Amino acid sequence: MQFTSYGGVNEYGRSCFLIEISGRRILVDCGISKSAETVRERYPDFSEADVQRIDAVFITHSHEDHTLALPYAVSLGLNAPVFASAETIAQTRAYFQLWEKTAALERLLIPYHKEAEEQIDFRPIDMAAAGEWTLLFDEIEYIAGANGHAPGSLWYLFYDRASEESVFFSGDYTMSSAVFPFDWPPATSVDFAVLDGANGVCRSKQADCIADVLSQLDEHVPHNGVLFHVPLAGKSQDWLYLLLSFCKQRDLRMEAEPFLMQELEKLMHEDLFKSGIFRDFSKFLNVQAGIMESGETEPKITLLTDFTLLNGAVRTQGKEAMLTTGPVSPVLKRYVEEENMPLIKLPYHVHPTLTESTALYRHLQPTSFICTHAPKETTEQLEAALRRAAFSSL
Ligand SMILES: [Zn+2]
Ligand SMILES: [Zn+2]
Repeated sequence: MQFTSYGGVNEYGRSCFLIEISGRRILVDCGISKSAETVRERYPDFSEADVQRIDAVFITHSHEDHTLALPYAVSLGLNAPVFASAETIAQTRAYFQLWEKTAALERLLIPYHKEAEEQIDFRPIDMAAAGEWTLLFDEIEYIAGANGHAPGSLWYLFYDRASEESVFFSGDYTMSSAVFPFDWPPATSVDFAVLDGANGVCRSKQADCIADVLSQLDEHVPHNGVLFHVPLAGKSQDWLYLLLSFCKQRDLRMEAEPFLMQELEKLMHEDLFKSGIFRDFSKFLNVQAGIMESGETEPKITLLTDFTLLNGAVRTQGKEAMLTTGPVSPVLKRYVEEENMPLIKLPYHVHPTLTESTALYRHLQPTSFICTHAPKETTEQLEAALRRAAFSSL
């Protein structure tokens, strides 16, 4: 078995990993680094020859740093099926649209023709069969499970019956989402694990992160209102849920971007949430969605994404604060600068804390492993902490 990183090791962004197992080449994720200065640093470091020899691609979730280099790979000659959940495929298409608009605004070069997006050979993974071994080719099987990060986001475990080797990809994951479940992989020790290390050895608790955000809202919303910025997928569903609960308790007004409401309606039919989540809100949601069109002027929380900022569809009173639990997209950065608006940045975990990393590490008992998705120092700290955890569990 051989592991190669084309991006995403010792850096935050452009996650793109190759595993060679029994002569087959499987690529996991194919993302870009949005904040990179040059095309070379933005896209994965693979050549035409590397891409053309790939047998299958697996995408963990729709975020830009895991998907936006797919059309580039196709333009270099990628000729392989791209497996992902149906939700990930649909959201990835929305992220392609958003990136096209962002790149135009920021005058960034897109190194492929738009047709390449249509030429990606997406194959939706049958979620009814998730949790069961599926034959990929030859003697290689895989199993997938929900990893709590975003709607339809998955971890993957590959197993080669011939060599009896196994490799686990966590994808970006959290066990602390307010709305998305985390499925544990089978408790078998794996040969190699590729783990999300974005939060390093962070120990702060999700409940404290949420309390900090809500106290900022208590301070700002009743007087001036707050624009609450979220990505298209993941944190947006968490915060939609948390903010609806908050507004219901405080009798505050809230509106959400139509894109988010349409997504939510779709997702509620897909059985992707923890059980019972959003159930109590069905009536409340209709009422709140109606406010979008009514031009209310009372202070409120407005949940929005880059789509609304790009369309210029934000109705402000000119006194609101912008709040985000990150990341700060180029579009958001430009907007708050132009509007001279205060930007409140607070954490909310969609990557594992040290406790969660340790729990997953002990569960998998990998013979060897690598942490990804973070700068070198953060990565080394986490890897050292996990090695210590392995000994302390003996
Ligand atoms: Zn992500
Ligand atoms: Zn990521």
